[in-house]
Amino acid sequence: MSHNTIPYASPRVGLRADGSLSEGMGHLHRELNLARTLRDRFAWAPIFLTRTPDVLRSLFTEPGEFAVVSLTSGQEIEAVKENDIALLLWDTQREISQEEVAALKQAGTKVWLYGNQGNGRLEVDCNVFAYPGVAAQVIEGYDLLSRLPGSDNTMIAERFRDLRSNRSARKHPATARRIFVAMGGADENFMTGLALASLKLLTHPLHVDCFLGQLFPHEEQLEKLLRDVPFSYRIHRASRFFSEIAAMADLAIIQFGNTVAELNCLGIPVVTLNPAPFHDRVARIYAQDGSTCNLGLAEDFDSKTLSVALDHLISNQTTREHLAQTGANKIDGRGVFRVADALFATLQKDFNLYCCDVCDGDDFIPIAKRNGRNIVKCKICGLDYMNVRPNRNILKNVYATEYFTAERIQDNAESYEADKENILRFACARLDVLEEIQPAKGKLLDIGCALGFYLELARDRGWKVAGFDISNYAVRYAHDKLNLKEVQQGTVETVEYEKDSFDAIICSLVLEHFVDPRGSLAKILSWLRPGGHIAIKVPHAGGIMYRFTPKKWFSTHPDNHFCDFTPQTLGRLLYDTGAEPVSWHTEGIYLERFAEALELSAKQRLELLALDGIQERYHSFASQNLLGDSLVVYGRKFL
Ligand SMILES: [Zn+2]
Repeated sequence: MSHNTIPYASPRVGLRADGSLSEGMGHLHRELNLARTLRDRFAWAPIFLTRTPDVLRSLFTEPGEFAVVSLTSGQEIEAVKENDIALLLWDTQREISQEEVAALKQAGTKVWLYGNQGNGRLEVDCNVFAYPGVAAQVIEGYDLLSRLPGSDNTMIAERFRDLRSNRSARKHPATARRIFVAMGGADENFMTGLALASLKLLTHPLHVDCFLGQLFPHEEQLEKLLRDVPFSYRIHRASRFFSEIAAMADLAIIQFGNTVAELNCLGIPVVTLNPAPFHDRVARIYAQDGSTCNLGLAEDFDSKTLSVALDHLISNQTTREHLAQTGANKIDGRGVFRVADALFATLQKDFNLYCCDVCDGDDFIPIAKRNGRNIVKCKICGLDYMNVRPNRNILKNVYATEYFTAERIQDNAESYEADKENILRFACARLDVLEEIQPAKGKLLDIGCALGFYLELARDRGWKVAGFDISNYAVRYAHDKLNLKEVQQGTVETVEYEKDSFDAIICSLVLEHFVDPRGSLAKILSWLRPGGHIAIKVPHAGGIMYRFTPKKWFSTHPDNHFCDFTPQTLGRLLYDTGAEPVSWHTEGIYLERFAEALELSAKQRLELLALDGIQERYHSFASQNLLGDSLVVYGRKFL
């Protein structure tokens, strides 16, 4: 197999954000979520540009998590100019002028602005509104702005997405018991104190979680207030467990702000109560669709009237259910993906993003880096895959300039030819099984047939054969030297055969190369007659090398292998595309690799290899347990 390098590099993405006591930290968290998403999703390396490097660094999960450029006023634009794109936070960037935006654009830096509402007064490349539905109503000329589409671009953290499924499985109780009160730095008038005072007037058995932000200014008053309350309570000070504590709540009371999105995402019914008319106006618009219950301005309430309003929600299960459901539908926790993916589409024209090829999921863990790109593991079905893949133009270039130059083909072909005896051993094994499960020989197709050795053997054994390969050289070889006239040049995308026209198909070490394995396999299976068999061989992400020496597996992983399969993932893909797996085998069994996996010393290794009959015994053990580094499945097309 080829080991082409497909060029890929992180663009220079500058994230501009400051945090301080007066500005708060919410937006820094949001930009960090975006930075982590860009890193984990595309293997990019975004850079932070900030006037408050220490505040930013205090939020890193490890020292040096991201590169930081400290800005001093006066040279900001110069520093930001260094980037392909600058994402500026609206909330902290009110001072940026149209002239500065123009200077950045002049320097070739794209300018995107991120904010909750924004005012749309600058001509930037793209406005990213966290809540476009709100922005549409508060910004004049919204429709004329260049902006990200969609209804929710809130960049909230991954753990909220993870927790929401647990939360949604829980029932809403007839009477709310756990109340979550978020107390942040913006609560100047101690509005949350009013909320607690009103809860005091209720007779329900309540537990109140007071979640204090780092900047909450009324801690003393809070403690005084809590001295004689009829409910149980707990104060959480700047805890890292916001999501976990919030997820337990039956009802949340907050002032409108960043937190509303997190609570909506978790599926917690939310009540908003606001300190100032501006907040209240936005909160009212936000609540129009029923995703939160906006009570209005705090100053319009006293503890008695507020307790009546809260009592209604605490006692009314249906209302809380409806709030939770509408909120969870509105904020799905994937806003950060939408922003990240839009950045990707703007900056990586030669690459496309792919969901899991087996289950179509889009949530994964990055498990290895390969030439700047991530190999990821699907959280749902466990498939290992590259979610960033070159588009056809790049692939064409790679194949044209590297792999399929005359010399390269010559080299490959020579080594392939020299390896003929070995290849025929595998071909023989393949045909033995096929002929056993399907005794009547008929027409056989080899996908990616290379020089045609499999087909030559199959013809000798009585099959009518056909095949195709991307390499012209290989096709000429098959024609001229092996007299295989039914071999043509092409790829799965370009060749066509009659539907249901083959009795057997061989697909050896090619499925992992397909940019669209599901679509390609479905097309291949359409050529197979119902009841006919397909034999697929792929590298095995469940063999000895993957399991015990994963570093080696990933360090030798070709750039143009887009999926690594196990029996679970390959079986499911096969089933979904129209065939039932009938027999599993493993190849690529080497005792030496097992010795390596055991981390034996040189002496121990020699002793192991010298054991009487060890090769045969290991071979049988690895075969039975599917531990070889290649996986072979025989599938029968559904009738
Ligand atoms: Zn999956």
